[in-house]
Amino acid sequence: MNRVLLKLSGEALAGDKKTGFDEETCVAVAKQVKAIVDKGVQVAIVIGGGNFWRGRTSNKIDRPKADGIGMLATIMNCMYVSEIFRTEGMDTNVYTPFLCGTWTKLFSKDEAVADLNGGKVVFFAGGTGHPYFSTDMTMVLRAIEIEADCILGAKAIDGVYDSDPAVNPNAKKYDELPISKIVDD
Ligand code: UDP
Repeated sequence: MNRVLLKLSGEALAGDKKTGFDEETCVAVAKQVKAIVDKGVQVAIVIGGGNFWRGRTSNKIDRPKADGIGMLATIMNCMYVSEIFRTEGMDTNVYTPFLCGTWTKLFSKDEAVADLNGGKVVFFAGGTGHPYFSTDMTMVLRAIEIEADCILGAKAIDGVYDSDPAVNPNAKKYDELPISKIVDD
């Protein structure tokens, strides 16, 4: 594989704390990514925001605003992890789908691909820029756009279940899940 899209959930940055950043955990992620970057693999990264906020965290406030807060959380995450990556000797750029002052660059496929070809790790922060989506949607969208060879999803769950296994101990895991079943059910 030459070009991979890595998705990290926000909680993957928080270690045992579940919220905020755990620096040791993030440095460990950086070292693992550097190992494949040094072998010539191009790495693009999407990070969630669940260690700070998800749109569904509040049932009270306006959903698009709540999702906006979630998208901003993903930017904090990407800025932080990008800086950690730099301390580990990698070159990085953070892209967002909307203007974010001088903190990030406005997403451009051509610029991101040029960065990847030049050995930089690129971060896609701010999700899709639209409410009612998640960073898993962003992961798929950006992977297609940059023509990634594969998506690596680092998630707290090991597959797709019919309900949340953290809540339902009898949740059923699907080994195979054809699109026709999703449509039919
Ligand atoms: N979000 C959004 N649009 C997007 C991507 C994310 O509105 O395109 C918001 C949404 O509120 C989401 C939050 O950002 O809950 C954080 O993303 P996600 O829940 O995917 O984070 P993760 O669970 O992977 O940490």
